[in-house]
Amino acid sequence: MLNFAAPAQKLDSMAYYKDRISKYLDKEKALDGYYALDKQGIIIYASPEKKAQGEMEYKVFWEEAAQLSNLFRNRSIYEATQLLIRKKDNHFSEDKGMQEAVTANDIRTKPLPGPEKPFAGMRIAIDPGHIAGDMETGKIEKKYIDMPADPASVTRKKPIQLVEGQLNLETALLLKEKLQRAGAEVMLTRGKPNETAFGITLEEWIKCCSRKAADSLFKIKELDEKEYNFLISKAGKKEMFRNLFRDIELAERARKINNFRPDVTVIIHYNVDESNTGWKKQTEKNFVMTFAPGSFMKDELEKPEDRACFVKLLLAPDLENSMSLCSTMTASFQQDLKVPAAGETDAAYLSANCIAGTAKGVYLRNLSLTRQVNGTLVYGETLYQDNVKESIRLMERSSTDGNVQVPVRVQEVAEAYYKGLLKHYFAN
Ligand SMILES: [Zn+2]
Repeated sequence: MLNFAAPAQKLDSMAYYKDRISKYLDKEKALDGYYALDKQGIIIYASPEKKAQGEMEYKVFWEEAAQLSNLFRNRSIYEATQLLIRKKDNHFSEDKGMQEAVTANDIRTKPLPGPEKPFAGMRIAIDPGHIAGDMETGKIEKKYIDMPADPASVTRKKPIQLVEGQLNLETALLLKEKLQRAGAEVMLTRGKPNETAFGITLEEWIKCCSRKAADSLFKIKELDEKEYNFLISKAGKKEMFRNLFRDIELAERARKINNFRPDVTVIIHYNVDESNTGWKKQTEKNFVMTFAPGSFMKDELEKPEDRACFVKLLLAPDLENSMSLCSTMTASFQQDLKVPAAGETDAAYLSANCIAGTAKGVYLRNLSLTRQVNGTLVYGETLYQDNVKESIRLMERSSTDGNVQVPVRVQEVAEAYYKGLLKHYFAN
């Protein structure tokens, strides 16, 4: 399944990777202060000033793509980055401690797929986006729709209340069942309403772990003194969520996924119309889109972890493999859900932050998970929850095979993801 998109001749490496950066990674052509390419590999600098002084952060050699990916398994993004900085301009093989860190120790034996179990032997990670399982938590993470009823409107006789984290989880659980029945080994980053990737709720995390997290971020200078003092003395739940928890939890999702070593990762979200401020009324707009890794903006290499992901994406074939999966998936969404694919002018962030991919509706975008997750992935945004028709469909629940009440539309979305995976891996 893997097909490394490495250049045919070693001599061409520099030109090949230079082209990759400009095509897929550097959206604004503003990142060359952070790296330099030579015949052997890529040299990373902590800032354009450091580059001017000739002071490198580390170097990765072209042939080290596989070791680099392995470095991000079994450890957090912070630890992986620290190991890269320690390596400096040595080869991975020249550092004994490092050897162990980058050797994949994968001895699983795969069962053979058959017609009844097409996914046998495949490992699939599913990430149900966000955490909320109720409106209160949905409001903390600002991923909710709470529209009052409008007697004058034919489409809003009843109030519309949707919590994206819950829709994502319901979709993920249905998809998991389908894939397991078809033989796959499936891992979910979180499995219950209001449960975070740490296996506890946000409130529990704030109680047990926020102080320690703030201390360690302060120590590595990712929080300044003012932010740190605010977090440990005054911050409420909302600020804790935004300023501390969110990024740490996304990194935990990536760590769990990379540790599982999936053949493919499916990240599930439902979108909204960004121009529909506050989502107090329904919108006519409705689009599907999928995101693959890439498209770093000019200020997105300031953190050492982000530079490490940039190098990983440059060397691995993840970007092309993800784009190809995203294309099949977007086609499946359009066909099965009857929602059109978003063009570049259909949402402001698509033209401002993304690079258009190989098909309409497929975009490279530098999100925490597209950046940090190893391997092939699809980050799906299947429809707009605030759309006039979708908002009503998402409120209509019916029983599934497993006898749980799930919105009918969510059942269709889960099926569309399943069919998209089938098509991508098994259609000839
Ligand atoms: Zn979302």
